[in-house]
Amino acid sequence: MKLSDKVNKLLKTKNLSDGELLELIKTDVFDEELFFAADKVRREHYGTDVYVRGLIEFTNYCKNDCYYCGIRHGNKKAVRYRLSREDIMECCREGYALGFRTFVLQGGEDPYYTDEIMCEIISSIRKEYPDCAITLSVGEKSRETYEKYFAAGANRYLLRHETADSEHYAMLHPNSMSLENRKRCLFDLKEIGFQVGSGFMVGSPYQTAENLLADLRFLQELIPDMIGIGPYLTHEQTPFADKENGSMELTLRLIAVLRLMFPYALLPSTTALGTIHPKGRELGLKAGANVVMPNLSPVNVRKLYELYENKICTGEEAAQCRGCLEKRVENAGYKIVTDIGNVKKH
Ligand code: SAH
Repeated sequence: MKLSDKVNKLLKTKNLSDGELLELIKTDVFDEELFFAADKVRREHYGTDVYVRGLIEFTNYCKNDCYYCGIRHGNKKAVRYRLSREDIMECCREGYALGFRTFVLQGGEDPYYTDEIMCEIISSIRKEYPDCAITLSVGEKSRETYEKYFAAGANRYLLRHETADSEHYAMLHPNSMSLENRKRCLFDLKEIGFQVGSGFMVGSPYQTAENLLADLRFLQELIPDMIGIGPYLTHEQTPFADKENGSMELTLRLIAVLRLMFPYALLPSTTALGTIHPKGRELGLKAGANVVMPNLSPVNVRKLYELYENKICTGEEAAQCRGCLEKRVENAGYKIVTDIGNVKKH
């Protein structure tokens, strides 16, 4: 099938057959027609609005040993840090003044933050900023723990499924982790009432086109509010130190496909995309993304939250980052808005 026929079919039905999707994933052209259609759909649903989320990376301790991740437990060279509730509140204060209405608390799976400590942090933010969304991204927990977070005032949860193929999942993670549990978490979070974000890395080691197809099919089953994807990027202190980075072109193509399959979705143009290419985030927006997640973490810890090498924006103050991003978003033809940025109805 010709590309224009695939784009038309996507526009009409929000779906393609397995064979058609595989063809799209496997082509290596930089595809204006696909991006144009994705941008049109994005504008129909969200205009030129770009939502900002203030990312607070509050701990780089992690009990897990994901083979791709620079803050894995087994990286003995990582310099570890934790932010206190007061530190986190200070990040929110700064962020609120800069127009952020969503705070994303992301970290490794750090047992120091018991349910009690996490809930104290969440309720402090909830009390001080009733008009803001609180997003958590702290990995796999029991349903009971997720219920406590929700009751304390958290509204959204980001948990990428990473890969929807269990064999591939086992190549990226130690035996102590399973795709089954990750999926359980995602469905629990949805049932509890969180707005849920999932997603995957593009070009992670051993990934095939069929794996990516499985990712798209899993997302159709989950129907998440947000879908975050970014290229896999290598880190020296991991078992994947010699593996190649993922591709920007494929990431952009998949963003466009995601916009056409999930017109309503919140799609971030990720830091990993901005790291692999200086204009990566702008290109992500033009391919259909509508969210950016600048860093609100204190500058002295930013370099330490090193999931992969050469991560951008680790040296600037929050205000500088916000200003720089504002210009980048405008240059791409869109506009950052001060808004809680909820998903549109779907
Ligand atoms: N502990 C949390 C947060 C993980 S970090 C959790 O389990 O959800 C957020 C995301 O960064 C991960 O879900 C993963 O998709 C991505 N990531 C980790 N290492 C990466 C790497 N080397 N390259 C690109 N993305 C990476």
